[in-house]
Amino acid sequence: MRIALAKYGQETNSFSSTLTTISTFQKFGMFEGEDVLESGISSGPIAGLFDACRDAGFSWEPIPLIRGWAGASGKITEATHQFFVGKITDGLSGHENLDGLFLDLHGAAQAVHLDDCEGNLIEQCRAIIGADKPIVVALDHHANVTQKMVDHADAIVAHRTQPHDPYDTGYQAGQLLVQTLRREAEPVSVLQKIPMLTHQEQFLTTPAGPMREWFELARQLEQSEGVLSISPCPMQPWLDISEAGWAVIVVADADQQLARKTANQLAEFAWENRQRFMQQTSVSPAIAVTQAIETEGFVVLSDTGDSVFGGAPGDSTILLKLLLENPIEQDCLVPMVDPGVVAEALEAGPGASLSVSVGGKQDSVFSSPAEVDCVVAGTGGGRIRVDVIGNDSYDAGRAVLLRCRNVLLAVTETEGIGGNHPICYEQFGVDVSTAKMAVLKTASNFQYYSQFQPTIIRADTDGMTMSGVNRLPWNQLSRPIFPLDKFD
Ligand SMILES: [Zn+2]
Repeated sequence: MRIALAKYGQETNSFSSTLTTISTFQKFGMFEGEDVLESGISSGPIAGLFDACRDAGFSWEPIPLIRGWAGASGKITEATHQFFVGKITDGLSGHENLDGLFLDLHGAAQAVHLDDCEGNLIEQCRAIIGADKPIVVALDHHANVTQKMVDHADAIVAHRTQPHDPYDTGYQAGQLLVQTLRREAEPVSVLQKIPMLTHQEQFLTTPAGPMREWFELARQLEQSEGVLSISPCPMQPWLDISEAGWAVIVVADADQQLARKTANQLAEFAWENRQRFMQQTSVSPAIAVTQAIETEGFVVLSDTGDSVFGGAPGDSTILLKLLLENPIEQDCLVPMVDPGVVAEALEAGPGASLSVSVGGKQDSVFSSPAEVDCVVAGTGGGRIRVDVIGNDSYDAGRAVLLRCRNVLLAVTETEGIGGNHPICYEQFGVDVSTAKMAVLKTASNFQYYSQFQPTIIRADTDGMTMSGVNRLPWNQLSRPIFPLDKFD
């Protein structure tokens, strides 16, 4: 069997003005043809697919087309979307005797000219590969799943946990692909949309709470005879398009009715628990900083409004300014995106004293530059090898470490992973375990700091990924939707 493979992944924040281009993809690595399988797939869906095939004793030949990931940012340019669609559809046309297609996508990608990038891609792939060859898709569960995606794919599987486990998603999707190709299963899919979007503070499936209960219900109903796969999809809450909202995808074995009934059951749980999904743990930035200082042991201080994993620019200075105002004995680790300050510091050189105006430039709506006196404590950057969010490396451009009294500021040219992994400081020789706290530019992906057994404190900062979803400037979204509108 010959199966074509492609990855085209980006999560769009409609409120960001930073366009996503080919070079954004290149920062996380973009590969074509045989290079797709060369390196960097060990923790992603493609690795899961390979292992599912191996474990099933399935003999196949992979036909790799392209692999690109751009993290989260603003809308994709038209040329960039057409580039990926062109590479994938040309690849499908150029290979004869294909038996199926495996797509590794995000599911919440918006282009400047197009609201549903993945639906558009899958539709075009279907037109080339034909109705009788399976297309199986792995998605991030923060996708905005559309009817077009479901109509043109044979099966869609989204992440089953947060923290994300992209390998597992690929494995599950791979099993479905093998079963379909062997004619052991005849997948039919049903999409049930739910008129909800909620902030990310309840997005983890590990602690007790509604998200865990919802995903456990999915796993339980998956045991039912005839149900092949269930994917609850709590959409990321910064995609401003008319079709946006939560969803459930149920894939059943030739049983549309069963799929519909199961999807309804899952949707009902989400809707009935909607108020619980809105429970907020974040506190005002000033209170969060005070709590972080007073807490025993290592603290992760989450900058919820400036999540680079949600497409915010990573240059908010709200927490930085508060940390500089407060006397703290141990170091506070703070990430910051500011290419101009990186250039100034590199020119001054290690050990030099500088006065700089840092951050608050890309996101000038919610924060403003901080004036700091600092010493250049280190230089670094470039392509960093680390397993993070399903990739094995990233490029944040050039980077410098600035010491501003108690704050160690890791300043990068681009957002990269926003200080969300200790490597961001370890690359400069910093021993993270001796620090008091690290500011993370995420509201829920704290797993890379788990070795320090941190206390998590979320700051309710304003920004493009803020928990106050009511305060975001929605424009295209179809109404009514919870929690922006009242429901009885
Ligand atoms: Zn996600």
